[in-house]
Amino acid sequence: MAYDLTVIGTGPGGYVCAIRAAQLGMKVAVVEKDKTFGGTCLNVGCIPSKALLHASELFEEAGHKFGGMGIKVPAPKLDLPAMMKFKDEGVAGNVNGVAFLLKKNKIDAFIGHGRITAPGKIEVTVADGKSQTVETKNIVIATGSDVARLKGIEIDEKRIVSSTGALALDKVPAKLLVVGAGVIGLELGSVWRRLGAQVTVVEFLDRILPGMDAEVGKQFQRILQKQGMTFKLSSRVTAIDLSGKTLKASVEPAAGGAAETIEADVALVAIGRVPYTEGLGLTELGVAMERGRVTVDAHYATNVAGIYAIGDVIAGPMLAHKAEDEGVAVAEIIAGQAGHVNYDAIPNVIYTYPEVATVGKTEEELKSAGVAYTAGKFPFTANGRAKVNQTTDGFVKILADAKTDRVLGVHIVGREAGEMIHEACVLIEFGGSAEDLARTCHAHPTRSEAIKEAALAVGKRAIHM
Ligand SMILES: Cc1cc2nc3c(=O)[nH]c(=O)nc-3n(C[C@H](O)[C@H](O)[C@H](O)COP(=O)(O)OP(=O)(O)OC[C@H]3O[C@@H](n4cnc5c(N)ncnc54)[C@H](O)[C@@H]3O)c2cc1C
Repeated sequence: MAYDLTVIGTGPGGYVCAIRAAQLGMKVAVVEKDKTFGGTCLNVGCIPSKALLHASELFEEAGHKFGGMGIKVPAPKLDLPAMMKFKDEGVAGNVNGVAFLLKKNKIDAFIGHGRITAPGKIEVTVADGKSQTVETKNIVIATGSDVARLKGIEIDEKRIVSSTGALALDKVPAKLLVVGAGVIGLELGSVWRRLGAQVTVVEFLDRILPGMDAEVGKQFQRILQKQGMTFKLSSRVTAIDLSGKTLKASVEPAAGGAAETIEADVALVAIGRVPYTEGLGLTELGVAMERGRVTVDAHYATNVAGIYAIGDVIAGPMLAHKAEDEGVAVAEIIAGQAGHVNYDAIPNVIYTYPEVATVGKTEEELKSAGVAYTAGKFPFTANGRAKVNQTTDGFVKILADAKTDRVLGVHIVGREAGEMIHEACVLIEFGGSAEDLARTCHAHPTRSEAIKEAALAVGKRAIHM
């Protein structure tokens, strides 16, 4: 039987695309090479990392903060296997949820490695080498991404780990070396620091969180340092010697010069991710690619008719919700509707303590584009709820067009920033102004009042500062 649409990959891009297409009346199939649905995000990404971030944050709070609130508890003891079980149960709940949704939407699943042999034809090979061909009118490639590797440094997932190994260590390393000060390195570095590791982060650039607003990066680094994380910026790890009991990493200044040695029990390589297209048959088909990513037009169509691509495998931020929104958009486009993603309104969140959440433009982007803007800033030290709960780290910054007052970017460092950012996303989506936000009533006492105050600060009229 020929399907209307077959999606290769069941990460957040793929399974959401399949469900939306089924809702629109298409006969849909998915192809997945792994044992479980959900892709990187549900199995070894967003979901397990958030379980460990949650559990380790409470562990640290119980040890250091409960006493100050009058809650007397014995010093908490870590039961790492139980914490890992908590994480695994959370993952299982989520991947089973995807299996349920696929079934509910009458989507057929082919388990095996998919290779596109011709437009409309996918060969699915299972582990024993047997294969079958799936016939389909349209194909969406949603094969995601894989860990980026450092030349000459082999990941064994025991002592030199990627994020996948760092989510499943069987004991807390006394010393953890994190290579790369991006989101994944800082999240997983935070997990293991809270559980007792001494964490050193080495970053090639002269700042953490490359691509994010520079002021956010600077303040966030200061907070993480206060928590006990050590940073070595403008430096690169060139080799790791595994011969001794501890790892010995050679770290050189990025600009060149004498190397120093940093010892560690575990090294986490978190230098980014690369699009995954192995064995898909794209070169043979002549599908255009650029720097490993599948090239698509504004409708997610590749240069080969009937083949589309979404998510981490194409350009843009490697984020689960970006992949999901593209999944919905491409399904609607294939159904003849006007699917669309607004790339100016995609939030980016780091789930550490405090959290970092941003949407829209950074100050650096506005400056380099020559856009005149006004910045309104409000610190959590002046927010009633943050003050009374003694969680005052961070600030809200709103960047608005100097002429029109339209909000172009919102940047938050602070507890629960990842939940707070969405009113800014809605505002940007609707083309709202700082004035709109400032005149919107916010419940008291909430941390979100800091967003309203930052909007007031754009017009230099914050009340509580
Ligand atoms: C540690 C970590 C934490 C993260 N945390 C967050 C977060 O908090 N928030 C966030 O937004 N993003 C987060 N991300 C990023 C997020 O996981 C990705 O952006 C997202 O999973 C991309 O979705 P996708 O559908 O494009 O691909 P993926 O989720 O990578 O899924 C691709 C699927 O395709 C399958 N596949 C590949 N090739 C084939 C083939 N030939 N045949 C059959 N199947 C195939 C794979 O097995 C996989 O299941 C995190 C990533 C990591 C590693």
